[in-house]
Amino acid sequence: MFKDFPFDRVNWKTSIFLITTTLVSLIFVPMYIYHHSISMFLIGMFMFYTVATIMSITLGYHRLFSHLSFKAKWPVKFLTLVFGAAAYENSCLSWASDHRHHHKHVDHDGDPYDISRGFFYAHIGWLLFKLDPMPVMNNVSDLQKDKLVMWQDKWVHLIGFVVGLVFPTLLGYLMFDATVALGCFLIVGFLRIVVVQHCTFFINSLCHTLGSRPYNSGNSARDSAIMAVFTCGEGYHNYHHAFQHDYRNGVKPWQFDPTKWMIWTLSKVGLTSNLRRVSDAKILLAEMREAKRLIDQKREAFVDVKQSHLVFEKTEEMIDVLSDRLSECFAQIDEAIADKVELSKSALKEIHTEIRSVVRGIGKVKTARA
Ligand SMILES: [Zn+2]
Ligand SMILES: [Zn+2]
Repeated sequence: MFKDFPFDRVNWKTSIFLITTTLVSLIFVPMYIYHHSISMFLIGMFMFYTVATIMSITLGYHRLFSHLSFKAKWPVKFLTLVFGAAAYENSCLSWASDHRHHHKHVDHDGDPYDISRGFFYAHIGWLLFKLDPMPVMNNVSDLQKDKLVMWQDKWVHLIGFVVGLVFPTLLGYLMFDATVALGCFLIVGFLRIVVVQHCTFFINSLCHTLGSRPYNSGNSARDSAIMAVFTCGEGYHNYHHAFQHDYRNGVKPWQFDPTKWMIWTLSKVGLTSNLRRVSDAKILLAEMREAKRLIDQKREAFVDVKQSHLVFEKTEEMIDVLSDRLSECFAQIDEAIADKVELSKSALKEIHTEIRSVVRGIGKVKTARA
């Protein structure tokens, strides 16, 4: 039955951990909930640990250490490294190295969680089996100079065990009794680890599969408001791949990005600084380039099937109108950049509304092939 199974390529340590935590969560957690009541303490601890560990990955591992998108004082670094270890996603150093390879080689060989090798591979398969070739840790020399990062790299499993499993269990025992301690061990420990892991794994799988590509359709990364809810704001992944050094992922005022809000709030109390932002004009230019590419694509598809028919004439007319409207937006931005003039908030908003309506218009243009 397992004759052709590549046992020699299995990453045993990680695979056993991922399978065990999943089985415990699926079997023992429901048994505990069936036999014991769930107290507000348990719910509160679960919520706290979930938010603390997922945000240590998004704010710490990802935006701070991997992308250097802002600077942080040592308490922020320390807490994100300690709770990041409790997310059981390896040390910050190796996480950041994998992630920098992901951005550099996205969708190609060299991307550790390359989505072109399938959804399952990008989600969890790359962890279950040894990577071929193994990524080289040659892109984190800056982090190797950081004493806190290196301390966490050395003790990551011990920190993860103490902070992620021992501490909540002990707290449950000291404040209540052995039953609550068991609940903490199973729910705040195991179930929370599984939930947080899959939420962050979704960034590599679903965020490269579902959603729109308003900034750059040259790679598989997508923007999805739904995924942003599950990933503390990382769901605006198309923007992130277009502008990876921006501390924000959701840049529009209505987009849900609690990681961005937390970084901004910490900057107000002096714990973070040098928050890197891409200018609004540059962001709009990227959106316009993408809209233009869509128009060109439609025009090409249209030319292929063009016939002397009234419907096609109307479609061509529509594409021309949309193209002209976009050119006007381009001209405004170009002029502002050339004159080094900051466009007013209302002018930027107007241009953005126009681009969105052009993109919607392109979506409605029907060609025989589309
Ligand atoms: Zn990505
Ligand atoms: Zn990234």
